[in-house]
Amino acid sequence: MSIKVVKFGGSSLADADKFRRVAEIIAADPDRRYVVPSAPGKRFSDDIKITDMLYQCYNLARDTSTKEEFETCYSNICARFQGIIADLGLDFDISGELTYIKNAILGRAGRDFAASRGEYLSGLILAKFIGFDFIDAENVILFKDNGTFDADKTHEVLTAELARHERAIIPGFYGLMPNGTVKTFSRGGSDITGSIVARAAGADLYENWTDVSGFMMADPRIIKDPRAIETVTYRELRELSYMGATVLHEDAIFPVRIAGIPINIRNTMRPGDAGTMIVASASDYDNKHIITGIAGRRGFSVFTVEDDLMNSQIGYGRRMLEVFEENGIAFEHMPTGIDTMSVIVATADIDPIREKIIASLNRTLKPDSVTVDDGLALIAVVGRGMVKAKGTAARVFSAVSNAEVNIKMIDQGSSELNIILGVEERDFEVCVKAIYDEFVND
Ligand code: ASP
Repeated sequence: MSIKVVKFGGSSLADADKFRRVAEIIAADPDRRYVVPSAPGKRFSDDIKITDMLYQCYNLARDTSTKEEFETCYSNICARFQGIIADLGLDFDISGELTYIKNAILGRAGRDFAASRGEYLSGLILAKFIGFDFIDAENVILFKDNGTFDADKTHEVLTAELARHERAIIPGFYGLMPNGTVKTFSRGGSDITGSIVARAAGADLYENWTDVSGFMMADPRIIKDPRAIETVTYRELRELSYMGATVLHEDAIFPVRIAGIPINIRNTMRPGDAGTMIVASASDYDNKHIITGIAGRRGFSVFTVEDDLMNSQIGYGRRMLEVFEENGIAFEHMPTGIDTMSVIVATADIDPIREKIIASLNRTLKPDSVTVDDGLALIAVVGRGMVKAKGTAARVFSAVSNAEVNIKMIDQGSSELNIILGVEERDFEVCVKAIYDEFVND
């Protein structure tokens, strides 16, 4: 019998109906033995996630002048959980838990403790509903003194604990510090818990159930109904996520990657969809399209330095980059010409210190000129299939030029996993559409 660890996001547990769907999904496959729930999310677009309500309660509790608002906020949280229990027809009294949490938030409990209670209560209710054991994450997900996740200790403790349970619920998002206080991962961190549990369980698959049928080949705000990516490698995903595609918490990749466990992104509302498989190496999975996905972001600036005979000056690039390093700025790309060198950075990072950087570049390099251009968008065309396919770059460029978009920068890593284009921000969407149509609607 194989083992699947299944994580359900907040939108998959937003109300009693969703809990029922989750229960059906779990019951449909006996391999789904360990379940990691998030806190109930939004039921409709203006709704507030339980986690956000808990943060709000924590803030309100810190100020005596907002006592009434606190009471209202906390009773809304209670009503959501009590409502789910009543709708599910469960004989389950959580009023003691709710009072304890309320007093803790009003007392000395920390912000992370408050935020974590959404997952905790959601886990208790789900465990009761489907008859699985409940393992409190604070006993098995451990952090170090400095607040970073303690992977080794957690692995040891969690592996031993899971071995004692045939089927269990482990709430996502939080764990325990050595001093006994609760700590959470960053927002969206239940994805990380799921991945940690999958590794400790020696799972064959980590299913991450959410509200979309996997990663889309392009941003649905730009391309109407884009195709879902069937298979993506961890490395491709890293490129796509970095450039703006979000479905999974970035840190969720590492634990399963170490163990070589694939992740399957699935849609709770459309359980029949295969979703996206995230795998270490995709040689066994052929890609239908040469490209796997397109992602991009606006908001980049280009610093360009011109200097006659730059190419013969040894150490020029190092000195230029040192200016950015000394100012604590990470750079994205560095296209060069014979006598020009450009550094592309996020505009938000350099905005407060742009004059200082220009002055340092002038002082350090004594170039003929330094210019800064804002308003650049970067687009990454990502695909493991590019290595084998000839003419991919030509197809990208002609699609973009047919759309009458001027390419301002090109960068192709030697891994041939991606081609990065820099275009004016106003051309961003047209450019993404042109590339998508060229490779997907061909
Ligand atoms: N409930 C937490 C959040 O809203 C963690 C999660 O859902 O993964 O960020």
